[in-house]
Amino acid sequence: MMMRLKNKRKGTGMSKVNIIMYHYVRSIAGSRYPGIKGLETGDFIKQLDFLKENGFSFIRMEELIASYQESYVLPEKAVLLTFDDAYRDHFTEVFPILLERGIQGSFFVPGEVVDRKVVLPVNKIHFILAVENDHHHLKEELLKMLDQHRGREFDIPENGDLLKEYEKPGKFDDPETVFVKKMLQFVLPERLRDMLLESLFDKIVDVPEKVLWDELYLKDYQIKAMKKSGMFFGAHGYHHYHLGEAGHDEMKEDIIKGLQVIDSCIDRDSWVMNYPYGSYNDDVLQVIRSLGAKLAITTKVGVNDTKKDDAFHICRLNTNDFPPKSDKYLNY
Ligand SMILES: [Zn+2]
Repeated sequence: MMMRLKNKRKGTGMSKVNIIMYHYVRSIAGSRYPGIKGLETGDFIKQLDFLKENGFSFIRMEELIASYQESYVLPEKAVLLTFDDAYRDHFTEVFPILLERGIQGSFFVPGEVVDRKVVLPVNKIHFILAVENDHHHLKEELLKMLDQHRGREFDIPENGDLLKEYEKPGKFDDPETVFVKKMLQFVLPERLRDMLLESLFDKIVDVPEKVLWDELYLKDYQIKAMKKSGMFFGAHGYHHYHLGEAGHDEMKEDIIKGLQVIDSCIDRDSWVMNYPYGSYNDDVLQVIRSLGAKLAITTKVGVNDTKKDDAFHICRLNTNDFPPKSDKYLNY
């Protein structure tokens, strides 16, 4: 790809890139789950219009890889679109819009959702929080459940200690919501988390897991169709673990299993990692490098400079940082 520009002006935007992060893109307000936090399809279209009208150039993942390897100079105001967690929205809502506009999206698949047809804990949590919008009540419910389990099979700290450590305001959430999320995401022992989640999911969301799985995620044939039409696919682990917190063997196995599921859609010598929850450490870095990853994407907030920044700590901006949601992108 010999597309290096001749005029090497110093300090211009030729190596800067905005990477936008999307999760759910769907019709939310009138849906069965109006509490789900995501982007309305209409706002997605508005955002693409805004980017186009304001001189942003949509780039492909292959161009980003080449840019980090210094064989390719990015256009000014380069922007790349990334979609996490393999939602069916990405096929039904996003894909036709991107196709029509000739834009490539990069889609990151947690292997287990395709392989085992289960709903990931992270998504169960989203739907529990969306259906039970009284998060104070939810927290109380969770604490009661912990009281029931404490001192039996699991070693659980006192509720007061847990609250003191984890009930803190988050970037997007109030302290009680943060507390519930953290308990169910990674603080408690995994088996206990699964038990609590299953019981909260049954009681609150009250939809068979298989039905929600079917509604929620990309199917294998959809992934193949998107790939065939030029969309990019990348790795997002298997179980969607906090890889930076997992033990070495568990972490490595999770990454390898995740790659196997999307094997037909990736280049094993030049694939892209997207760390679930943005969680990684030096060990994770070494494993993905040895397995052929060329770039790795985080949830750190910022704009990247492909000449200066590391290819394994790539920052993103959220869809909410751009119009029609906000103008926060201007701060980076
Ligand atoms: Zn994810």
